Amino acid sequence: MPQLQFDKDKCAKCKSVPCLTKCQYISIDNASAKTEWHKVINGENSFVLKACTTCYACEEYCPSGNHPFYMIVDRQEEKGILPAPRPIVTMWVNQCQPVGKFMVGLLQEKALSYCLLPHFNTLAHGKLFEDIEYSVIFGQEFFCNAVFLHYARTSLIRERLPVIIENIKKQGIKELVCLHDECYATYASIAPAYGIEVPFKAVHYFEYLLERLNKLKSQVKPLNLKVAYQRNCSTRLIPQVDHFVDDIFSTIGVQRLNRQYDKQKALCCAEVFRMGMGPDLADDVQKRNLDDMLESGAEYVVFNCPACWDSLADKVAARGLKPIHMIDLCKLAIGEAQSLQLAKMEAEV
Ligand code: SF4
Ligand code: SF4
Repeated sequence: MPQLQFDKDKCAKCKSVPCLTKCQYISIDNASAKTEWHKVINGENSFVLKACTTCYACEEYCPSGNHPFYMIVDRQEEKGILPAPRPIVTMWVNQCQPVGKFMVGLLQEKALSYCLLPHFNTLAHGKLFEDIEYSVIFGQEFFCNAVFLHYARTSLIRERLPVIIENIKKQGIKELVCLHDECYATYASIAPAYGIEVPFKAVHYFEYLLERLNKLKSQVKPLNLKVAYQRNCSTRLIPQVDHFVDDIFSTIGVQRLNRQYDKQKALCCAEVFRMGMGPDLADDVQKRNLDDMLESGAEYVVFNCPACWDSLADKVAARGLKPIHMIDLCKLAIGEAQSLQLAKMEAEV
């Protein structure tokens, strides 16, 4: 079974322990952070293991790429600490099990991954996708399984991910454009952290969109919009991708407004907190985030992850803001209508 490549020497030299001192859900001073973190990495009991909301952010806070969050999840699993009720975890384990059933389109060497999210069947069409819109994989056999980071089950990721990667390779795919941020994060962060080889090129759909917009440059009309950007949990595993948000926005004339809860201080959709830490924390985080979006002066809220969309889009719309997925925002810039279900929601605002 693949094991986490973790370097304890890096932690011994780390003075400020930002993996814990920057955490937005654990209040801790520097000296206690050092003590508690050493308990975690040495396999001892630490309150951190129960207090962690699984927001993924410490992966971004660690300046050494030492994977503190994966270490926390490994330790939670070893000690039987479940961040969500057992029936929920069991339901996910069973529902996402590879069972030999999947959907593929007219596959080429370059393909789109829908992960296990039907949203992309609505989103990924039109000029931005015209060369590969039918070259698609979808279903459990191609599901990245990263969600199990929320459920203290790295063993399941370690067991299933090599099988999933082999399934993708068997389709003859050489380049996989990941429409779900979490899939790209799996191939670019989780797999190397556990020494799992990825034999194809994984491309984040932001990079793909930027390339397509540059090719379609003559059709791009600046949108002149001010937006709040909603970072999802898995962006914390791949902060190197964040610049594509700004690159896309500058290409289509969109301003990413400065607000309290973006960049390193971003708040995730918090829906997963509802099951583990309870509804009060989830409601509080969502309220602070929505208040901040409104105060920033944004007209639109741009989503990356469909799970964030499912948790927050209605609430964003109820506050008088317009929720839009990044793909639809790019479609607007080239004069294409956004996906019908999203346009309907916007019309109802
Ligand atoms: S995991 Fe990273 S941030 Fe945390 S103590 Fe180790 S090196 Fe520092
Ligand atoms: S995952 Fe989030 S809540 Fe857990 S320790 Fe890291 S930053 Fe804190």
